[in-house]
Amino acid sequence: MRYISTRDNETSVSPARAIEQGLSAEGGLFVPASVPRLPDGALEELCAMNYRQRAVYVMKLFLEDYPVAELTDFVTRAYGPGGFDTPRVAPVRRLDKNTHFLELWHGPTCAFKDMALQMLPYLLTAAVRKNGEERRVCILVATSGDTGKAALEGFADVEGTRICVFYPRDGVSDIQKLQMTSQSGGNVLVCAVNGNFDDAQTTVKEIFSDPALREELSDRGWMLSSANSINWGRLLPQIVYYISAYCDLVNGQELALGDPVNFCVPTGNFGDILAGYYAKCMGLPVGKLVCASNRNDVLTDFFKTGVYDRKRDFHTTVSPSMDILVSSNLERLLYHLSGGNDRETAGYMEALKTAGEYTVSKKIKSAMDALFAAGTCSDEETKDAIRGVFTGHNYLMDTHTAVAYGVLEKYRRETGDETAAVIVSTASPFKFCAAVLEALGKTPEGAGPELIGQLEDVSGVRAPEPLKALAGKTARFTDSYDKAELPGVVRRFLK
Ligand SMILES: *Cc1c(COP(=O)(O)O)cnc(C)c1O
Repeated sequence: MRYISTRDNETSVSPARAIEQGLSAEGGLFVPASVPRLPDGALEELCAMNYRQRAVYVMKLFLEDYPVAELTDFVTRAYGPGGFDTPRVAPVRRLDKNTHFLELWHGPTCAFKDMALQMLPYLLTAAVRKNGEERRVCILVATSGDTGKAALEGFADVEGTRICVFYPRDGVSDIQKLQMTSQSGGNVLVCAVNGNFDDAQTTVKEIFSDPALREELSDRGWMLSSANSINWGRLLPQIVYYISAYCDLVNGQELALGDPVNFCVPTGNFGDILAGYYAKCMGLPVGKLVCASNRNDVLTDFFKTGVYDRKRDFHTTVSPSMDILVSSNLERLLYHLSGGNDRETAGYMEALKTAGEYTVSKKIKSAMDALFAAGTCSDEETKDAIRGVFTGHNYLMDTHTAVAYGVLEKYRRETGDETAAVIVSTASPFKFCAAVLEALGKTPEGAGPELIGQLEDVSGVRAPEPLKALAGKTARFTDSYDKAELPGVVRRFLK
């Protein structure tokens, strides 16, 4: 199968090339030229498999140039007991007869980004080899929190790679900071940037587009790459868990094979929910995909009106990984729903850049209406949801998952759609202790990792080991830098 750019149908690259390149030269994103269908009988077969086997099966359909033996090796390493605390990898938990949670936070950093970032290093280093590239790869990441740690865990000590993460010095939570600065591995570097997330991100983009620096690094045998969520290698592993969740529900006799199921997804950059869309395109019986936003509700407005308008205030919320105004992966959806119209897609993206908004065609809007629903949940409602579900069901949700829960409740009230629903649970509640404690009516006593024990006591739930282990950790990386110093930091790191 070939991959083409959302902004130029003439581009056509192999899967390995799409993964190595990340972004197409004219700025578009790579999408499969046609989405493969699950063959007849595939779901029955998948039901009989474990998570890792399902991952090989699904990824193989999209990656012709990766042999099955190679993918099997990758999933064993990515989703093995060293990183994931359950052999089910992405377990489904029942809340009531038609509501379930898909828990995507059993990996090393306790957030759903592990599902993709544990796999990406293998897909990427293999892509580089397949393409005959002899240089080694250095991953540069600007992060506002979860991505940096997940990328560090994924790439730490992976042969032929180094990884350098930049985070805003005062822009991440104490737990997130300690998670990153205590990272082990001989090939990692973590730097605080004096500035905000945009400063870090802008500087990383400048480093990527500095031809002199790239050439200098290339002469020394290094190429630069990125691990952000527009890379196809990050999206693909996410399709797997939608299909796997469906199989688990069938195996648990919660559904009969062929019954539809809705997914409600806490959304930021639109990567997670887009993977659900691809699963539906492959033939998985998905009813509605419900897009859940916090107070940053640009996507909710978009799904209601067909107008994407980023000209609005940015709000900081208790679900920070969804605080986002431009959802990059939406471009892929627009491309598919326009019937593969590259000019039209490029036009929307140009309008977004120059005018700050675009309005989709009637054709796209009605396709969106058939596939998606959307809703938003305030911080207050998020905390109410956490308290309500804990009191009523003794199940502890994190703030992002709670946004999805709140939106699903509203969706059901408004539409009367009682189809079985899976709430995609994207983080351990112990990553966001302060907000979860407040939701439960408690005053947080202390800061950062100190709160983990308090939340364990209050909830009677055990925190995941990697978060508990933070309490004894000290920072390996303590330096902070001004923006202008960062190219020099990268140079020295790749000496
Ligand atoms: C990244 C993230 C999200 C948003 O996922 P997208 O793919 O960006 O839509 C939601 N919840 C958590 C905990 C995250 O880390």
